[in-house]
Amino acid sequence: MGEELRSALTAFAARPRVLVAVDFDGTLAPLVTDPLQARALHGGLETLREAAALGGVTTAVASGRDLATLEALTGIGPGDGITLIGSHGAQTNRGNPADLASAVGASLLDEAAAALLETLRDELAAIRSRYPAVRLEYKPAAVVLHTRDVEPSAAKAATKAAREAGRRHPGVHVTPGKEVVELSVSAADKGSALGELARASRSEATLYVGDDATDERAFAALHPLSGDLTIKVGTGETVALHRVPDPEAVVELLKLFVEVRRLQG
Ligand SMILES: [Mg+2]
Repeated sequence: MGEELRSALTAFAARPRVLVAVDFDGTLAPLVTDPLQARALHGGLETLREAAALGGVTTAVASGRDLATLEALTGIGPGDGITLIGSHGAQTNRGNPADLASAVGASLLDEAAAALLETLRDELAAIRSRYPAVRLEYKPAAVVLHTRDVEPSAAKAATKAAREAGRRHPGVHVTPGKEVVELSVSAADKGSALGELARASRSEATLYVGDDATDERAFAALHPLSGDLTIKVGTGETVALHRVPDPEAVVELLKLFVEVRRLQG
């Protein structure tokens, strides 16, 4: 870890109330071919639990996965003190009344949005019938096309077809990612969800680590000049101020945060 990030992390850890939030896939968990086989690296969730137990520290995992899948993959339950933010911010496991609608998934969509989601599912299923190696993931407010390990020309053609399907329908949010394209009927984003959590927990500064296109909206919503810490995992363009190479380095970063915070406490 670079000296610059280390000193920024030390300054961040010295603040009385902070929010520590991480993305899941590609950040806490290495990317894998089958999305349901993704697991956090050893030490990642354990360290996040340790951080959650420290005074003045709020922790969250913010993912594009739907909440139920995120709960299953992380094993994080209500007693762990870690907030789960699913579907890019459309769902959380925090028990406040505003989230109750989110918790029941697709029923939070109005009739038009539900019909639109149905159309998108049909259109992506048609694309999969032309390119059988691609995989579809169905989420409460979105459908996702996965092309990891698919032969490149088929992956490219299927991705292009999915993006075109998304653009044909007003009200669809097309989010490209790493070997993935998501068509969503919800406008939720990680940046707003983290902002809400920071306000609700009265955190003065937020640390966020992520690796993909949707994380850029979270980085962009934060304010490094007033103490927020934005950290991009891996290569690629980013608005984040800091960078770490891989999920292993994310675990190291979380461990250092806990260590520094304990020393300061
Ligand atoms: Mg990710």
